[in-house]
Amino acid sequence: MELMKINHFEYLMDDEEVFDRGRRLYKSGAVKYIKKYACSHSFKVQGTQLYDVEICLRETDNVLTYMECNCPYGKHHICKHEVAAILYLKDMLHIPDLV
Ligand SMILES: [Zn+2]
Repeated sequence: MELMKINHFEYLMDDEEVFDRGRRLYKSGAVKYIKKYACSHSFKVQGTQLYDVEICLRETDNVLTYMECNCPYGKHHICKHEVAAILYLKDMLHIPDLV
């Protein structure tokens, strides 16, 4: 996975549609925060099914170091559930957008 800052990832995503769907999922309240363990944040995201999402954020520089979702698409791509969880995390930690 390419390393990217949490407030920069939307600009680096080549698939705008996945980003938009993820943002809608987040806005609709589909993301539930579960727990933090070391750098890793766990979520449940309600899509077609309930998916488990894991996001690792390096806190020193807000770089995303790892993301995983157990949906079929998430194995090889950034999926909308990961996008939704990342947006949730970014707001939860009050990380500002890049301007
Ligand atoms: Zn997914």
